[in-house]
Amino acid sequence: MPHTEHILHGRYAVVSCHVERPLDDDVWSRFNALQERRPGGFAIAALMRPPAEGENEERWLERAQEAQARGPFGLHTHWTAPDHARPTGGDPAALVREQGRRLDSLGLRATFFCGGGWYMDEKVLAAVADLGYADCTATAFRPGYLEPGAPHLQLEEPAWIELAAGRRVLEVPTTHSIGMLARGLLGPFRRQIVHAYFHDTDLLDRGRAAALRIGLSFLGLKRTVTDLDELQRGLRPEKTTSFANSRA
Ligand SMILES: [Zn+2]
Repeated sequence: MPHTEHILHGRYAVVSCHVERPLDDDVWSRFNALQERRPGGFAIAALMRPPAEGENEERWLERAQEAQARGPFGLHTHWTAPDHARPTGGDPAALVREQGRRLDSLGLRATFFCGGGWYMDEKVLAAVADLGYADCTATAFRPGYLEPGAPHLQLEEPAWIELAAGRRVLEVPTTHSIGMLARGLLGPFRRQIVHAYFHDTDLLDRGRAAALRIGLSFLGLKRTVTDLDELQRGLRPEKTTSFANSRA
């Protein structure tokens, strides 16, 4: 368990997966095997997209329960469609609240939220706070596909993000993609916390899957291996920031 003292001087790493196609048997079996194998010693957090209209909720629940038994579990919302993550209208926070309640009613205990396409706004973050989750939607990098001014949070290190009425949310930014991990093999990771992420669909590509396995093994040797739930329990960042200041 990381303590403040260790966090100040320690160098931790965690890994999460955006599980977007858990009902695709091929994708699921690959994710299932990888999470079970714990590359680098990591308990990979499954940030799962809930089933959309017409998808098999019963099978989804079985798979969510399997994932939750093996590592941290979180909610990954795709607002527009299974293959269209960012919202195109409506009330983004309302969908997050609805999905959070649904996970709850299914007996799943999510601890983290990650907005699809890295989307975040202040109302969504308030919904995340109300659900009792921590958040990992902020990124330390600027996602290349975002339009200038598109809502997005950018943070280098974990921080508390302040909301109205004195509430705050623990933000554990995502810092490395698979490609960045691979490039990081050449140099030191400067951040205190490396949070690497990938998509379940990356596992369909042999090259990306191999890069991920190698990257995570290397990361596990260079860092103290922990997981998102351990960080949520033990991490007390010194930094507090307002929502406006974490907008990128
Ligand atoms: Zn996604």
